Amino acid sequence: MSRFLNVIPVADAVAAVISISPPTVTETIPLDSAGGRILAAAVMADTDIPGFDRSVVDGYAVRAADTAGAGDAIPALLHSNGRIAMGRPDPSTSVGPGTCTYIPTGGVLPAGADAVVMVEYAEEAGDTILGKKAASHGENVLLRDEDFKQGEIVFLAGRRISPQDAGVLAACGCAVVTVAKKPVVGIISTGNELVPVTVVPGPGQVRDANASMLAAYLAEYGCVPRHYGIIPDEREAFEAVLARAVPECDVVLLSGGSSKDDRDMTAAVIASLGEVLVHGIAIAPGKPTIIGRIGSKPVFGLPGHPASAFVVLIAIVRPLLDRMLGIPVPLQRTEKATLAINIPSQRGREEYVRVMLENGVATPLFGKSGLLNTLVRSNGLVRIPAGAEGIEQGSTVEVILW
Ligand code: AMP
Ligand code: MG
Repeated sequence: MSRFLNVIPVADAVAAVISISPPTVTETIPLDSAGGRILAAAVMADTDIPGFDRSVVDGYAVRAADTAGAGDAIPALLHSNGRIAMGRPDPSTSVGPGTCTYIPTGGVLPAGADAVVMVEYAEEAGDTILGKKAASHGENVLLRDEDFKQGEIVFLAGRRISPQDAGVLAACGCAVVTVAKKPVVGIISTGNELVPVTVVPGPGQVRDANASMLAAYLAEYGCVPRHYGIIPDEREAFEAVLARAVPECDVVLLSGGSSKDDRDMTAAVIASLGEVLVHGIAIAPGKPTIIGRIGSKPVFGLPGHPASAFVVLIAIVRPLLDRMLGIPVPLQRTEKATLAINIPSQRGREEYVRVMLENGVATPLFGKSGLLNTLVRSNGLVRIPAGAEGIEQGSTVEVILW
């Protein structure tokens, strides 16, 4: 067997990932626990919002024409005919020519009125109100269905529910919402040199950084991470942990052991339990990546270097999560920036360079692949397409923000 990886382009790797993606599974949950979840069905307004013409200020409901030309010097003199109560329409009150009705913010606009003069521009003199500002037709009034119309699509499926969305969903009567079920993603760290976070590493040992990094990302993205601990580079250990993880998870990520060293047995074990679709991607960092499946479950072998594992997570694994979560457009935040210095790149592989973004300028942080510090001193990645030999200083680049 060759010791070299047979790399394929990133686009082909992503296509392989999509080809093995399980379908989106949905569930219906209470609105109050839906923040951050992904809507799995479009949402319509069940009523007009608002359901009535309503004042947006405290003031006097008027006929706009009655206030034409009014000002401090020559106020409009209007007869006050009472007050609007909150929360119910008052069919007995209407605003005729030359009259007005006090209305609180959110009150139902009485018949006959078409505008509201703010209290700040009105003065009470017994039953007479001095309107000191002309109101135009519709001023300070929110019309029935101006926000959302009954039957209107308010949200499309695939949207991550923000706090504001939750408010609008409540206004639309969605006590429960249908969302994508959170995929359960197993995380297995491999390597004889790894020790858990609670242990001070001895000579030759390193703490397991990947499991926590992957778990935090997955949880934030809308998955349920499930830890399977650290396993040594021994075939029996791989087989035993996969036998446990595969039935319990929707996707399994193994970090480390994905290359072709004698100790790297991820590919061999996946091949023996299922199939390996891809072993080696033209991506940097992250070349030694495995895409496989055991039964119907996607299984990934991520490179052990944390920065490489993270880039592969974003570039290769995330498209799978997007499919499973029903997200049509990746939820990545990007920002345009000017490149501070040239970034050389090897043609033929897609490169992801960590950059620090400051005041619209992206400065690449070149460093050895094993470094952790560039992951946290950077704010994101600049992608250099496989066909490019680099990007020149001063170019506008898109930074994929962490
Ligand atoms: P591997 O991909 O197993 O060849 O590992 C590549 C490098 O990443 C080695 O220096 C490992 O010690 C390191 N590494 C592997 N797994 C982890 C991990 N979970 N956390 C931190 N470093 C790791
Ligand atoms: Mg290893």
